[in-house]
Amino acid sequence: MQIRPIIGMEIHVQLATRTKMFCGCAVRQDAPPNSSVCEVCLGQPGSLPVINRQAFRLAMLTGLALNCRIASHTKWDRKSYYYPDLPKNYQISQYDLPLAAGGLFEIDTPQGARSLRIRRAHLEEDAGKNFHDVGDCTLVDLNRAGTPLLEIVTEPDLSSAEEAYIFCTELQRLVVHLGVSEANMQKGQMRFEPNVNVAIEADGQEYRTPIAEVKNLNSFRSVRQAIEYEVARQTAAWQEDHDYQIGKRPNENRGWDAERGVSDFQRGKEAAHDYRYFPDPDLVPVDVTEAMLAEARASLPELPVARRRRFVTEYGLSIKDAETIVDHRATAELFERVVAAGAPVEVAGKQFVNAWLKLANDRACAVTDLGVSETGLAELAKLVAEGTVSRTAATTLAEAMLSRPDPPRRIAEELGLLQVRDTDATARWVEEAFAANDKAVRDALANPKKMQAATGFLRGQVMKISGGKADPSLVGRLIEERLSALRG
Ligand code: ZN
Ligand code: MN
Repeated sequence: MQIRPIIGMEIHVQLATRTKMFCGCAVRQDAPPNSSVCEVCLGQPGSLPVINRQAFRLAMLTGLALNCRIASHTKWDRKSYYYPDLPKNYQISQYDLPLAAGGLFEIDTPQGARSLRIRRAHLEEDAGKNFHDVGDCTLVDLNRAGTPLLEIVTEPDLSSAEEAYIFCTELQRLVVHLGVSEANMQKGQMRFEPNVNVAIEADGQEYRTPIAEVKNLNSFRSVRQAIEYEVARQTAAWQEDHDYQIGKRPNENRGWDAERGVSDFQRGKEAAHDYRYFPDPDLVPVDVTEAMLAEARASLPELPVARRRRFVTEYGLSIKDAETIVDHRATAELFERVVAAGAPVEVAGKQFVNAWLKLANDRACAVTDLGVSETGLAELAKLVAEGTVSRTAATTLAEAMLSRPDPPRRIAEELGLLQVRDTDATARWVEEAFAANDKAVRDALANPKKMQAATGFLRGQVMKISGGKADPSLVGRLIEERLSALRG
């Protein structure tokens, strides 16, 4: 028996606009309940929606980044939706003429690059939020009702939970990079719905299980786990009952219970006709002009996948370091300016990953907000490359630079961080380290299994005693000399 998972994704991305999709209410997650609402997003009779131009622009930009065709003519449809969190009883969405369609999105997987087809991307409005079981009531907060969403739907091109995971992270990186969404998943600004079924090959025949759509996942981890769970569940269900097949059994909507690690049946999946779509008579269709398209194209930055690949080929960074730096657009752009300012690229890359990004992380800000100038960043990399300060000392120096505007060389002098290449001083540190670490010295001399580790340990000790000031290559040489002298 051979099993092949078939996975498509539906993603809802909250667009980073100041106001809602069809009214002027502010998009505010933190406002008191039902304080950012008006007659339009409350769905009062006679109120009229007006299209948010910025939301349309951001959606177009994303469509272009996903290599979609942008429709020259697009319209709005009502999708019947009878729940208390959207009091109009319909959601304004786009049905048969979506704003973007027929795209391609490339991701890098451990098995190589993969190109995934994007079926469509369309604009719609979000619903409010229900809070169940408050006493014996359900409370409804409509602040979120009417928030602009971009719904992106892929073709079922993903073939494993791992691939889906990579796709989702790459898509998040893309929308953040484009500045079209903050895509903060804790805040529900990006939600994933994998559509999963399994092709099973047995006795020279292929069987396909019904499709399950797992609703509203808000972490990459749950995307991965829910897909793994579905593949196993569906395979087992088919083994139990060979009629568990698409067409013979209904497709399903399922909910993911992260605590129990299982998905639960919610309801049979709606077909499009259940939603009774029809064109919204209150909204005019949008004709996308060449000028609008040209403006959007011109504001497309280099996309993260392309930039990451370029950082590897052009700068020689490792894939992992490139990924870390490119993850945040402003950081990636800063890095390029620092290299352009003359920083040796290898050292600068390591400093971004090991020092600057860590310092920024500790302070919950971006590297660009650390208050260190491009020149400062470039200078620090140069000091290491020319051997004026060691890599270890540079980390200390980086932190000191946060609170002092002086050039790094001056700070290094004042803090006594300049690398010491004085052989006598270094030899004294080596002597001290040998005296304090008897066992390591014995291992380094005579224990073939531990020789290398023990020598490395001694090197670390000398660096520590020197306060990071010793020149590592000089330290290495003096340690070897001393060891061979001891061996006689
Ligand atoms: Zn409103
Ligand atoms: Mn939707």
